[in-house]
Amino acid sequence: MTTLTHIAVGAVIAKAVLAGHKIQADPTIVYAVSILFSHLPDFTQPLIFLRYRVRKSHHLYSMYHKPIFWLALYAALQLTLPHALWNTIAVYANIALIAVGVHFLLDSFGPFRGVVWFSPILKKELYFVKLQEEPTSGREFIKAYAKTVVHKVQFLIIAGCLLYLLKKPV
Ligand SMILES: [Zn+2]
Repeated sequence: MTTLTHIAVGAVIAKAVLAGHKIQADPTIVYAVSILFSHLPDFTQPLIFLRYRVRKSHHLYSMYHKPIFWLALYAALQLTLPHALWNTIAVYANIALIAVGVHFLLDSFGPFRGVVWFSPILKKELYFVKLQEEPTSGREFIKAYAKTVVHKVQFLIIAGCLLYLLKKPV
């Protein structure tokens, strides 16, 4: 999925969390955390434009693109931070974990690559759509991606997100 889709979905997660739950959290920080972490697993992705091989390896080899990294980070923070500090940030850490999880869920619908959900136990990519052969250059990748159904569906997702974000709370 593209950056724009991840950001739009991140904003929706924030609004849904704030609307659906009576949580003790600063709404601005909730939006910031949700949007940031919705995209954070892809932060090595811009290397696509520097070296195609880096992009290709991104989904498979970037430690930030594996659910286990985020689960381990969450657990490490919970176990090591002083109790009072963890209690203060726990609500944001939970939102960050949801945002990262939704990121991987969306990426499982990518046209060329899946997500190694259970790495390092199972290094197989898992995906919910039939994968197409991955183009061999960054330029070809962008061209091929623009022709996929996933690319078109993203516009519907973004439009849906905007409608939800613009809707006034009931
Ligand atoms: Zn991703």
